[in-house]
Amino acid sequence: MMLFSKKTNPLRISLLTGLSLLVGVLMGIYSPINLFYLDMPIIGVIEIMISLFSFYCFWCAKTGKAKVYQSYVLVFLTTFLIYLAAYSADIRALSFLWGLALPIVYYLMFGEKQGFYFTCLILLPSIYILFINSPSEEFISYRAIVNYTFAHFFIWFLCHLYEKQHNQDKIQLQIMAHNDALTGVKNRHALEKHFKRLEKNAIQANVLLVDIDFFKLVNDEFGHSVGDAVLIEVAKCLQSQTDEDAIYRLGGEEFVILLEKVSIEDSRKKAEQIRHAIEQHTFHSHDLHLHLTVSIGVAQSSLGNAMIDALHRADNKLYQAKNKGRNAVCA
Ligand code: GH3
Ligand code: MG
Ligand code: MG
Repeated sequence: MMLFSKKTNPLRISLLTGLSLLVGVLMGIYSPINLFYLDMPIIGVIEIMISLFSFYCFWCAKTGKAKVYQSYVLVFLTTFLIYLAAYSADIRALSFLWGLALPIVYYLMFGEKQGFYFTCLILLPSIYILFINSPSEEFISYRAIVNYTFAHFFIWFLCHLYEKQHNQDKIQLQIMAHNDALTGVKNRHALEKHFKRLEKNAIQANVLLVDIDFFKLVNDEFGHSVGDAVLIEVAKCLQSQTDEDAIYRLGGEEFVILLEKVSIEDSRKKAEQIRHAIEQHTFHSHDLHLHLTVSIGVAQSSLGNAMIDALHRADNKLYQAKNKGRNAVCA
């Protein structure tokens, strides 16, 4: 289980920008008050240092130089200062109430898992400081602890629910952004992202460009809804022939299959197998029994060349397959 992620989420960087500015300004306001009016020089000096560090983080976040450690240091220093102030100040000043804002900061900055652990960690010191600073008559210290703990749990619970919902929404959005709504296979956007990954890691891949023959006739003769049902079934047929994760709908009646670390000859054989499977398949839709064929262009990506070039070459091969009379594979 990994508690600390090495990557900084861009969303969290925008949070770092806001939090660092807020903490920088707040500490800037509090430090002269503590230094000159409340006679708490240690807290005042720490506040000046945190304020300077916060503005530095703000500058880094604004100029794209922010590092993951800065979020942790900033939040740790803020937590430390809140507890130091709650410990040193008169309880009637209610400084300890700032502790209730910490679960929100943890969840916003570090997400569900780390937010949970950090919120759990701070409960005990909060209770301890509140207990030793509260007056002991009429069970005030116990009553204060009970109220504070319930408030802490209440905020914790809300933060956790919110972050969980946020994560679920994020996953849902990602699925919608990367999958084709009609067929469920991955879409062109996902293909472009995968192309970038392959290029970055210098992975060689072969592109199979699959195009349904005379698909327009299906729409014209039987209607668009039959055309849609055929597209869904073609996608299923492709999924049964190869790794589901390798299939993308490029648009219209064209699909791309990416075969990584496979020779061009094996890719051509796979394309032939797919062509044959579609040819043999009976498409059932709206009480119709249709037979279709596909043409497939196959091309190999060469290392150092953009994947999009391989796609263009596959398109040229597809054009040749169509010219050969369709229901053919060209590699
Ligand atoms: P060819 O053998 O040369 O590939 O001919 P074709 O008819 O398959 O190709 P053409 O490009 O002429 O027509 C593709 C058709 O695909 C036209 C368009 O209406 C249809 N189409 C594109 N997207 C969809 C879709 O999402 N659903 C349906 N039902 N039809 C679609
Ligand atoms: Mg086409
Ligand atoms: Mg076609």
